[in-house]
Amino acid sequence: MGWTTRGTGRNYDSLTGSEALVGFFTKKVLTYISKNRKCRKCDRGHDSSDHDCRLNFEGSAKAIESAAAAHLATQNSIFDTCHVQLGIMIGDNDSSAIGSVGAASHHEVIKHSDKNHTSKGVVNELHKIKKNHKELTAGAIKYLQRCFNYCVAQNIGDPVEMAKGIRNIPSHCFNNHDNCGTWCGYHANPESYRHSAIGDGFVSEQLFDALSCIFDVVASRADRFAAGVSSNVNESLNATIASKAPKMRFYGTTASSDARLACAINKKK
Ligand SMILES: [Zn+2]
Ligand SMILES: [Zn+2]
Repeated sequence: MGWTTRGTGRNYDSLTGSEALVGFFTKKVLTYISKNRKCRKCDRGHDSSDHDCRLNFEGSAKAIESAAAAHLATQNSIFDTCHVQLGIMIGDNDSSAIGSVGAASHHEVIKHSDKNHTSKGVVNELHKIKKNHKELTAGAIKYLQRCFNYCVAQNIGDPVEMAKGIRNIPSHCFNNHDNCGTWCGYHANPESYRHSAIGDGFVSEQLFDALSCIFDVVASRADRFAAGVSSNVNESLNATIASKAPKMRFYGTTASSDARLACAINKKK
């Protein structure tokens, strides 16, 4: 989902949004749609039949994302022609799209979380508890994120082992390496091993408990990101669309905004 609006992230005041499905294997755009909540001509009193009206959505901007996703997944002529259905969806963690696709489909749709969003989510959780633990410096958080990323990268496709590895991250940082995987350098060099960013390791028991809470929760969801997939292609597509319809200028709600979208998409097709 991309928004034609000023600012970053989700902007729920947006008048227009575009959504695209990108194939995991091909990395190409399968289909896209734009939803416009406003039309300038209609606003000026024109009848919708006397112009190329792009008004096609009534409802809040917030509702665009889920409506567009459901539309792309279930009313998709390309899927119909090829006799395929959307079965696995890769997206960021806070997307409302997956829920609506699941509700609109007559079969189960499995969600996989984008690995970069998952990793960033862990960092956000660590920053939330940072002020209560002086050992948890910015460098320490980066180190924990690296440990997490290694665990994910080394256990792609194996949620059970991945979860075990993630649960073990706090122990590793407190110098108990019994259950560490091959990513941990301790076993290669037990005598001289030091952590790269946290030296001799953490010592505070409160910190151990707090880290265990965070990593246990993430580990319990490992099946959602164990495929190690990413939605980077969509993000780069949205950046391309934004560059065609600069957010500083307002093209939404006209035929020209849809033309710009098509132009950006065609580059990726
Ligand atoms: Zn109109
Ligand atoms: Zn270790």
